[in-house]
Amino acid sequence: KLYFDYCASTPLHPKVAEQLFCTSEQLYANPSSVHEMGFEANQRVEESRERLSTILHVEPSEVIFTSGATESNNLAIIGAVRTWMKKTSQTPHVISTQIEHSSVFNCCKQLVGEGVEITFLPVDHNGIVSIASIEKAIQVNTMLVSVMHVNNETGSIQPIHEIGKLLRAKPHIYFHVDGVQGFGKLALELDDIDLYTLSGHKIGGPKGIGLLIVKEHVELTPLFFGGEQENGLRPGTTNVPGVLSLVEAIEISYSEREEKMQGLTVLHDLVYSKLEEIPEIIMNSPRPPLSAPHIINFSYKGTGVTSALLISILAKQGIIVSSQSACSSTAKTSRVLMAMTNDEILSSSSIRLSFHESVTPDDVRYLVHSISHMIHQVKSQNKFALL
Ligand code: PMP
Repeated sequence: KLYFDYCASTPLHPKVAEQLFCTSEQLYANPSSVHEMGFEANQRVEESRERLSTILHVEPSEVIFTSGATESNNLAIIGAVRTWMKKTSQTPHVISTQIEHSSVFNCCKQLVGEGVEITFLPVDHNGIVSIASIEKAIQVNTMLVSVMHVNNETGSIQPIHEIGKLLRAKPHIYFHVDGVQGFGKLALELDDIDLYTLSGHKIGGPKGIGLLIVKEHVELTPLFFGGEQENGLRPGTTNVPGVLSLVEAIEISYSEREEKMQGLTVLHDLVYSKLEEIPEIIMNSPRPPLSAPHIINFSYKGTGVTSALLISILAKQGIIVSSQSACSSTAKTSRVLMAMTNDEILSSSSIRLSFHESVTPDDVRYLVHSISHMIHQVKSQNKFALL
């Protein structure tokens, strides 16, 4: 089988797997316990936090370990909104976009039901939000802007550094970035970002671990209540093997970033150019530099062809792909593509290909061949349906 769904999850990097195994076996004591084994586990967690803070140029106290990006996004958004509500009687206003991952989008929708004002900004045909629209949406009660770095369905890159600069002049508005699909792929500068989300299993780390960078000046209200772990922001026994493995995965993906990107850009170009030649296909992702080079999204142009059908035809040829984020895979129409194209047919017949440094040019040649075959099959099935 050939797997092209690396945005949904990645295999553990061998060095991370070793770290996970060794620490699970040896460092099992609770790092909050006041005995020698607890102290050692705690020391290893704090060393990892320091290593991470050096890589990301933040303070160790600004690194909050969570169970993954879904929790980090909820903590950032709900945590900031609740703090605002405690401090002022004004209705909080949050600015986000129509293309966020469901862990941001549905969290914001939940808050709408609780009386919070949310603006979901539209995007252009490349899936990119404009700075001008953000500037225009700002109100006196705006207290948070949440925009992802790289869209998980199309790879479209959002102008987070420009948004950060715009918001620099408005320190009362927190800026949150869901960095899950951009980390280890694109250059990152956290100076103008107040809250930053990352997930382990998208970068060769384990599932069930992630982090939220919470800058010193940001006041969040925790989602859960219990112990004092993670500055009281995230109670619960620290996942020691998870933390150590996550930091290992981050170090590896950070140090190999540029080299990996060169390889992925070549693969992206090869696949994109071949798919563009197929008349029944429409490309949804823009090309780099507007898109990250590990994602290509396209749709079948004809009516009555669903993503599920295309995925199953490819699966018969041993090709594993998806259409949307695994967290929205039950929806028939892609919300992200609807926001970009406003076209129901294209939004319900999309395929997302996502790549990894281990993918070879031969793999993508077979992929392109299988997609051509799939188109051929769909066309002949449609012809019979019309007879
Ligand atoms: N944000 C983005 C952009 C994602 O792609 C994902 C994973 N589909 C998440 C958040 C959620 O990540 P996790 O699985 O760590 O909760």
